[in-house]
Amino acid sequence: MARLREVARLAAALAPLVAVAATPAPPPEPPRRIVVVSFDGAGGLDFARHRNTLSPDGFLRAEREGVSAARLQTVTPSLTAVAHASISAGALPQATGIVSNTYWPAGGPLKARVDGFAAEPAVETLWEALARQGHRVAALSWPGVSGSSTRSSTPVGLRWASLRSGGFVWRGPEEGAVLPDAAIALPPEVRSYSPPRLVRIEPTRGRDGAAPRPLRFVVVDTRDDGRREYDGLAALNEAGELEGRLRPGDWLALSEKSDGVALRGRWVKLLRLAPDASRVELYVGGIGQTEAWPDDFQRTLDRRCGFWPGPPDGALLSGPEPDVKSFLEMASRFSEFFTAAYEVAERRGDWDVLLGYQPLLDEVGHELTPPEPGAAGFDAARAERAEAAMRETWRIADRAAARYLRFLELGGDVLFLSDHGQRPVRRVVHPAELLRRQGWITTDSLAGRPVVRPDSPADVAVSGGTALVVLNRAGEMPGGVLSPEEGAGVLADIAGYLRDLKDETGAPLFETVALRGEAATLGLDHPNVGDLVLLAGKGTALRGGFPKLGADAPIVLPADVAGQHGYGPDPSLDGIFFHVGPGLEPARLPLVRAIDVAARVAARLGLSPPGAR
Ligand SMILES: [Zn+2]
Repeated sequence: MARLREVARLAAALAPLVAVAATPAPPPEPPRRIVVVSFDGAGGLDFARHRNTLSPDGFLRAEREGVSAARLQTVTPSLTAVAHASISAGALPQATGIVSNTYWPAGGPLKARVDGFAAEPAVETLWEALARQGHRVAALSWPGVSGSSTRSSTPVGLRWASLRSGGFVWRGPEEGAVLPDAAIALPPEVRSYSPPRLVRIEPTRGRDGAAPRPLRFVVVDTRDDGRREYDGLAALNEAGELEGRLRPGDWLALSEKSDGVALRGRWVKLLRLAPDASRVELYVGGIGQTEAWPDDFQRTLDRRCGFWPGPPDGALLSGPEPDVKSFLEMASRFSEFFTAAYEVAERRGDWDVLLGYQPLLDEVGHELTPPEPGAAGFDAARAERAEAAMRETWRIADRAAARYLRFLELGGDVLFLSDHGQRPVRRVVHPAELLRRQGWITTDSLAGRPVVRPDSPADVAVSGGTALVVLNRAGEMPGGVLSPEEGAGVLADIAGYLRDLKDETGAPLFETVALRGEAATLGLDHPNVGDLVLLAGKGTALRGGFPKLGADAPIVLPADVAGQHGYGPDPSLDGIFFHVGPGLEPARLPLVRAIDVAARVAARLGLSPPGAR
């Protein structure tokens, strides 16, 4: 309101001038507030494939009412940390310095690594530019806003929080055993018409070393029909009180002891219960806790959204019978958490730009991107299952989009984008193993596993489809071993060797093998890329470290993910773009560049973009 009064005062002061100049009516006042949501992993071309299954109220509404593009041209490599840094700063990776999800910091020792999600870009970000001009940004798990330093903080925020322990599937009892009788008094509200049986699960220790509480369930028969048929579980807390009930297919949230700061808990699902209690299968999720600021935002999130549920768990997809349904239920819950968090932030209203996040298309895409038809080993049934899962995931994302779009009714702008799409992959290569076999990487054995020696001639940092080779140059980095002449020779040898590697179809294994200077055409000419930029070819994912089988492993292994990104320029890796707001005429563009988004957002607020002073 204060700002409106100010505008009115200014208008009054300028009134005589305006009358003299007889200028036309001023353009409508720009909207004061913008919601930007990144749908991580949402490919522009993929959206086009799924559009006929979407509702009119989500992405299609945004397309109908605003400016949209067939593709948001992402940066190289098309990795989450890299692309978000470039979107946030309006600058290429060679300007932000964030060149991969994990990379070697120029000038550091050979084995030093930087986490691209925690790194500060070398240039100003959108939230910094807005703060400089007296405006506030809220960031809800936006990659790059970790809250861990002043530069990576916003006044209101929610950070990506790793689960405190991993999820797992519990199956029992052991072959040939039976579940013990529950030799305890049941809570008064629990009845069982057959002798109750006990399921006791001791979850493994969390990442913080803390032992989670054991989980106790009682298998019960709730029907008074004279038959011994178990039909559900009752979850008991440590005091033996009822925490909740589970029938097959149900999820239940269980709380954990918290540190007093925030709610903490895990989700469990009863996957299977044999009526004679001879078989019980439970999915036990990891322990989550929301990490948000300021404190009152954290408290409201805990109250309205529950604890941080964590991403869908790939453990559900392992084995001969992948549980896609439960996996997608987790993806949907996580999506809902982010949408609900946005709605809490919306009611606070103490921001001008909100950066929202929806990671589900990326998470599901890594596991369930349909394989390429015609590829070796193509499995039609698997392809159809994956296709259906991706369709469902787009629908979940679309429901979230519809909820963000309600911000239009409050007079604001809504902008949807993404950092990259995804490519199907069918094989995986370990670049470090390639270099080790040629003697360019030397290793020690630590607890039976190879680790790169600090005096190795070279090392490599790998993320997605990208590998950055770093030479251990004497005089340029602590502990360096290669003279300039040796370095030049090794570099030429490595580049030549990698350029000659072919896949089983005769295509190059790496679509790009570029010296640092040559990486300028990719927007990657930055010292942090090291000496050589490798981008894998179609169908290939790269993996850090060494294969389990060591020197006996084939160079090319079957992929352990279905989809991957982090490659060079490719329309199928480009993202989505929609921008709706008052006064924006509907228009369809072929392309918007990711690095133009920050300036666009700033301009809608009448502010200067990041980097401008
Ligand atoms: Zn991503």
